[in-house]
Amino acid sequence: MHAVVCIKQVPDTTDVKIDRKTNTLIREGVPSIVNPFDIHAIEEALRLKDRFGGRVTVISMGPSQARESLKKAISYGVDEAILISDRAFAGADTLATSYVLAQTIRAIGDKEPVDLVLCGKQAIDGDTAQVGPGIATRLGISQLTYVVKIRSIDLEKKEIVVERQLEGGREALRAELPALLTVVKELNTPRYQSLPSMIRAARYDPPVWDKDSFDRDPSLLGLKGSPTKVSKVYVPPPREKGGIIAGDPEDPEKTVAELVDKLLECKIIG
Ligand SMILES: Cc1cc2nc3c(=O)[nH]c(=O)nc-3n(C[C@H](O)[C@H](O)[C@H](O)COP(=O)(O)OP(=O)(O)OC[C@H]3O[C@@H](n4cnc5c(N)ncnc54)[C@H](O)[C@@H]3O)c2cc1C
Repeated sequence: MHAVVCIKQVPDTTDVKIDRKTNTLIREGVPSIVNPFDIHAIEEALRLKDRFGGRVTVISMGPSQARESLKKAISYGVDEAILISDRAFAGADTLATSYVLAQTIRAIGDKEPVDLVLCGKQAIDGDTAQVGPGIATRLGISQLTYVVKIRSIDLEKKEIVVERQLEGGREALRAELPALLTVVKELNTPRYQSLPSMIRAARYDPPVWDKDSFDRDPSLLGLKGSPTKVSKVYVPPPREKGGIIAGDPEDPEKTVAELVDKLLECKIIG
């Protein structure tokens, strides 16, 4: 079993503050983390390796700082972690990002066939949830999104059965391998890093692949390959202060009636 996991380094957005004067995000001093969904993708790949043997390769497209995320992946016990980094990839939207990741996976697969590609459901910064399906489409393999459980994998029959998390329940799907999964947090509980893996991670220097490391069409890379352009980024206006129904402790029915009137007025109930 050879699983490739795509991970993205993202700012720890719970820490992001907004500069109300300039209306921009204050990014200085904000720590970077591995996208939380991607940690669950790594964990699932490691569980499959524990069951079936084989390899787990982790890849990330990003600037050189993304090395830290790859080292983190190594500390969980993955075999190899590759940084995909080149100025030509800068300014990529989801289409161009999925192109580079798909071409990288093809090149990795030429050396050792890939059975499964795992991605997070979405990145907590870009928030589009498009990269996983984009990679699957480009590779021409099945895409199984919002995976909450892997029911079974049959490497002989080249078949996988998963459960997808939907709003009103779950859906079981069978697909051919190789396939791409995007995963939700409920899929598993990530393991603790072991000391030997942490030591290996501290010494690990991820190999760097640039635009010459795989077959590519230059017009599909980075800004050139991106049909969308971000024309403006702005901070949502602060929420208006909410009203308070003072209420009368002696007359709770009157307080409830006031609340119901307010809810009717705001068309929250009708
Ligand atoms: C407002 C805005 C402005 C932006 N401006 C720029 C810009 O100027 N320059 C620029 O380069 N980018 C920019 N981006 C980032 C870029 O468009 C996306 O972040 C990128 O294409 C990935 O999309 P996503 O973050 O929505 O990932 P999603 O599709 O939500 O990610 C889903 C999963 O795909 C995988 N994945 C996603 N990205 C990567 C990656 N890089 N490497 C490995 N795996 C990955 C992970 O498994 C992740 O969990 C901007 C994004 C936004 C929202």
